[in-house]
Amino acid sequence: MEPEGADPTAPIEPYRIKVVESIRLPSRAERERALERAGYNLFNLLSEEVYIDLLTDSGTAAMSDRQWAGLMVGDEAYAGSRNFVHFEATVRELTGFPHIIPAHQGRAAEHLLFSQLAKPGDIVPNNMHFDTTQAHVLRAGARPLNLAIPEAYACDDPHPFKGNVDVPKLQQLLESPQGSHVPLVMVTLTNNTGGGQPVSLANLKAVSETCRRFQKPLYLDICRWAENAYLIRERETGQSSRSVREIAREVCDLADGATMSAKKDGLVNMGGFIATRNAGLAARFKEELIVFEGFPTYGGLARRDLEAISIGLQEALMEDYLEHRLGQVRFLAGRLTAHGVPIMQPPGGHGVYLDVTRFLSHLRPPQLPGQALAVELYREGGVRSVEVGAIMFEDVTAPSSNPLELLRLAIPRRVYTESHLRFVADTVCRVWDRRASVRGMRIVEAPEHLRHFTARFAPEPP
Ligand SMILES: *Cc1c(COP(=O)(O)O)cnc(C)c1O
Repeated sequence: MEPEGADPTAPIEPYRIKVVESIRLPSRAERERALERAGYNLFNLLSEEVYIDLLTDSGTAAMSDRQWAGLMVGDEAYAGSRNFVHFEATVRELTGFPHIIPAHQGRAAEHLLFSQLAKPGDIVPNNMHFDTTQAHVLRAGARPLNLAIPEAYACDDPHPFKGNVDVPKLQQLLESPQGSHVPLVMVTLTNNTGGGQPVSLANLKAVSETCRRFQKPLYLDICRWAENAYLIRERETGQSSRSVREIAREVCDLADGATMSAKKDGLVNMGGFIATRNAGLAARFKEELIVFEGFPTYGGLARRDLEAISIGLQEALMEDYLEHRLGQVRFLAGRLTAHGVPIMQPPGGHGVYLDVTRFLSHLRPPQLPGQALAVELYREGGVRSVEVGAIMFEDVTAPSSNPLELLRLAIPRRVYTESHLRFVADTVCRVWDRRASVRGMRIVEAPEHLRHFTARFAPEPP
């Protein structure tokens, strides 16, 4: 029986399956043992211990037959590989940025950006910093500042572009004496930390104009720019008749450069790049790249990987692919909402984010409700998710502190089917029905930076 109010129409796959990979639901006893061994941190689970893996949509996509074929035409020359030539031409064409520098993943691109542009005492505004972006800003001695619109922090608010930057606040910052300490402005598309929420074209135009007025470079984190462009077309007035590709290109036209983790909208398992219009800066990025990543025609990747990225970027901008992808997110969100499960509304681009504060309203923040819920979904159905809240974004610097307590169910691209999503929804709904029984957690040990990856936890005594 369909839950009332759920979207009963699951999106139809614009592909058929050529290769399969077996998965299995471990028994309840196996899951309980796995949790104990993992210190109740789902990053410590073995993949085999997980049934449906929604930990991340990063590097988990299924590549197409064309991408796999692309690997076979890898030209593994150290310098001047033909795959680099193709990669550079593709990224130039899609983004319009002239200088394209490959890197092994998104954070490597962030390293290049912030090691060259940020210094101690600087302030880096962003709509919302993602964990690795924040870590690189801090590592450079600068201060991350989140400037998303207030609606971004209200899970129930139906605002269609909760990734938007609060432009008056940005302007205020740049006008103030602190403005001289801002080396660049960043905007993350979509806003992963805030629920995969898109940024509108109108907002990007306003940010771009503000940056130009104060002569600050604008860099975009374009990990999920195809999903962002699709949501612009769908939700923004006047955009419905344009192609996603056209919108994605216009987005880049508004910026001075971009970082990208191709593990998202590049539809590959590894890769990324940084792009810029600034030739002098590109030369500095390349110097740094050679020390940390490799020669500029491979950037820490096998050349065949560059071929897979070139093909993946094109595929990620295809309309039928995006319709299905966003349809999957909406399908899962619909089933949860119909059952009364509180989620970040409206659903964003790459997953469904549970509103932990309302889901486990009997737990207080020190009881780490996001982690408690992640553990419980695994315990209930072998579903792996990730906390995006107090643990991932501890209060390192007050202005970047994140009051949102979310649990992300990230949907890998082209990997799971409608029945998998139904299983996930049923698992979440069963935990929702017995939510009062979910106990809090505490941290047993944790490193200083990016602690969510390696911390160990323990359940509170009953
Ligand atoms: C994943 C991600 C990154 C970092 O990319 P990696 O490839 O994981 O290093 C940066 N920004 C955002 C918004 C991301 O989602």
